Amino acid sequence: MENILRIAIQKSGRLSEDSLLLIRECGIQFNSGTGKLKSDSTNFPAELLFLRDDDIPGYVADGVADVGIVGENVTTETNRTVQTVQKLGFCKCRLSIAIPRAQDYRGVQDLRGRSIATSYPRILAGFLNHHQVEADIHEISGSVEIAPSIGLADAICDLVSSGSTLLSNGLKEVETIFRSEAELIAYPSLSEAKSRTLDQLLFRIRAVQAAKNSKYILLNAPNHSIEKIIRILPGIKSPTVVPLVMAGWSSLHSVINENDFWEIIEALREAGAEGILVVPIEKMIF
Ligand code: ATP
Ligand code: ZN
Repeated sequence: MENILRIAIQKSGRLSEDSLLLIRECGIQFNSGTGKLKSDSTNFPAELLFLRDDDIPGYVADGVADVGIVGENVTTETNRTVQTVQKLGFCKCRLSIAIPRAQDYRGVQDLRGRSIATSYPRILAGFLNHHQVEADIHEISGSVEIAPSIGLADAICDLVSSGSTLLSNGLKEVETIFRSEAELIAYPSLSEAKSRTLDQLLFRIRAVQAAKNSKYILLNAPNHSIEKIIRILPGIKSPTVVPLVMAGWSSLHSVINENDFWEIIEALREAGAEGILVVPIEKMIF
């Protein structure tokens, strides 16, 4: 069928679980079956392709897959022509330069003439060029963090999330050169039918993302505090106020942003709110 969207995701690795979870949260079901290369959806015009993450931008650029979920680091390093459709907020990490812990570091200039091992030669070269530092880029495909200790390189440029891998290899992070998260990329010239399916998918992804950043809040308050509380609670349009059976009291309902959560709760308590309930929101449609 011409409207079926072929979605490439990582077969197994750090991106796999969250990619599948997102698709499931969008209500798209698949005939599960491990070890398969391809899977058809039972309730949405989509097909999953399970690939190595490094191959995803290429497949999408060639139109073999219509869209893909991959780290921005891989999209940028691969440098294939694809369209970035939506950042997805998971698999956050950074690409950093690290050197042996005992070494002094005053700035990028200290990398001049050094050898740096990395799986990201293109992004690293861009960074070094930008700072007009000439260094020797040593491309290796894995276990980059051990390169200095075995004498293969003076420094490394690798992905970091917590930094514990660097620490346990006696390295310290000295420059962050790229920040990354998972993103949805697309073939730049999708057919109209597939574009429509992609729009449906995006609509669902955005509803899931909006819900994740928000909480539904319910609370009781004496009527004389309501005005003050409404000023604290913005809500999507405005909060709902329902009278309680108990005279002089009301219940207020609203939506708050996850990021301001604790600040808002404290302000509400000070304003006289009681019996505060905070519940997750599953989907949010604007
Ligand atoms: P594949 O076998 O598919 O090539 P891989 O070993 O290259 O897998 P993973 O280690 O599964 O890849 O990482 C996939 C992506 O997860 C990375 O490209 C990056 O975007 C993201 N990521 C997040 N945190 C980290 C981290 N601490 N280390 C490495 N990658 C991370
Ligand atoms: Zn990979």
